Amino acid sequence: MLPRAVAVHKLKELLEDIQNSLLKRAVEDLESHTVLLTDWSQFTPNLDKKNIILAPFCGDSTCEDKIKADSARDDGEAVEPGAPSMGAKTLCIPLEQPAQIKPTDKCIHPDCARKPSFYTLFGRSY
Ligand SMILES: [Zn+2]
Repeated sequence: MLPRAVAVHKLKELLEDIQNSLLKRAVEDLESHTVLLTDWSQFTPNLDKKNIILAPFCGDSTCEDKIKADSARDDGEAVEPGAPSMGAKTLCIPLEQPAQIKPTDKCIHPDCARKPSFYTLFGRSY
């Protein structure tokens, strides 16, 4: 058996290791599942692949509702039982923007004529 002081120290190290590897995995998972898009046709297919989407967005709430409605799975048949078919909603506006919004950029929703304000994260909620 380990002396108590050593055991406590070892346990602390072990917990730190676990925490670090969990965080690392979470960050890697997030990064490998985040897709930068400017093309609406790729939006729903990427949601269906369980990706999180980073896209230029005008920030308007009616536009967000449209994105949500139009990105819902509309074939009526879920790929797997219990798979979410809800539309995407905005998750957050990353502080670290992947790119500058250019004057030629358009909001991700094809019907939207507004200028995007920032890249925004979209995802289905589970
Ligand atoms: Zn818009």
